Amino acid sequence: MTSRNYLLLTPGPLTTSRSVKEAMLFDSCTWDDDYNLGVVEKIRQQLTALATRAEGYTSVLLQGSGSYAVEAVLGSAIGADNKVLIVSNGAYGARMAEMADLMGIAHRVYDCGEVARPEVQTLEAILKEDTAISHIAMVHCETTTGILNPIAEVGVLARQYAKTYIVDAMSSFGGIPLDVAELNIDFLISSANKCIQGVPGFAFVIARTAKLEACAGHSRSLSLDLYAQWRCMEDNHGKWRFTSPTHTVLAFAQALAELAEEGGVAARYRRYLQNQQALVSGMRELGFRTLLDDVFHSPIITAFYSPDDAQYRFKEFYSRLKEQGFVIYPGKVSQSDCFRIGNIGEVYERDIISLLNAIKHAMYWKK
Ligand SMILES: *Cc1c(COP(=O)(O)O)cnc(C)c1O
Repeated sequence: MTSRNYLLLTPGPLTTSRSVKEAMLFDSCTWDDDYNLGVVEKIRQQLTALATRAEGYTSVLLQGSGSYAVEAVLGSAIGADNKVLIVSNGAYGARMAEMADLMGIAHRVYDCGEVARPEVQTLEAILKEDTAISHIAMVHCETTTGILNPIAEVGVLARQYAKTYIVDAMSSFGGIPLDVAELNIDFLISSANKCIQGVPGFAFVIARTAKLEACAGHSRSLSLDLYAQWRCMEDNHGKWRFTSPTHTVLAFAQALAELAEEGGVAARYRRYLQNQQALVSGMRELGFRTLLDDVFHSPIITAFYSPDDAQYRFKEFYSRLKEQGFVIYPGKVSQSDCFRIGNIGEVYERDIISLLNAIKHAMYWKK
């Protein structure tokens, strides 16, 4: 265990600012007004405001990592007589299908492979043919590859065919401008340790209030009952049902303040985009190839093919980068040999330049 702090170029947990970490040096009382009214309620309002300017939306926070909230939404929003169409092009889409399976939720999967975008015409054909479908669930930025999925086009379909629309915007919310009302999203899921740049410990859902109210009594789980969690927060001014991740929540409040200081989501998006563009052009100069075509890329994370060299080992490359202060991510795609580099977190273009320099030094197979 080294005491040196390295830069996490991973999409959560990610590198946070010192002030975000320092915000945790305080022990809050889980039912005190200072905490619930003063911190939790403010966060809930700020999150709803970040998601849309329209009326009729609310937010709810839930203990656990992002997957807990995805599972809570699927398990609470989809009733016993409903059926969900899950759009999948990576590990997180596949995870939703696994959750639906385990919870006994009727579902159909449209899998378009890992390096392509789902086709809206195909989705429309499915909706026309399979009228039992009542919900559509899709990932916005599929972190497996960094691909950005067409949430607006699918939102139009959801409206046209009157389907409840669930979007896993885990790795994009706060880093890519969006408006849930414009996109017709009913449930948007994200977590504390991604683009808002907080520390791990809870996730959150922005929901159309009327749709959340309709979730009463659906949940397949006690702890992951999104409606009950929301009801408790609504009725008790920000009180969590079970022990709340108090330190994480304080860090998140600070992270939200820093997002505003930076200039909001639009400014953060520009920074991530600069990071990503500097990374891709520098990596190409070093001879690396991206997994995706440029038009598919998000500014969040980029997958690169592993070098085609018999001497190359990800582990060795990884350790040589870590020694120089950078932590990258292994690949998650099943079809190709890749590694990934995240662009989000307290990371600036100068860090990407230093990273590229470190990569040049870590390319031992070239020596
Ligand atoms: C990070 C992430 C999740 C949640 O993963 P956890 O490990 O449970 O935090 C879900 N979907 C996407 C797209 C993600 O990037």
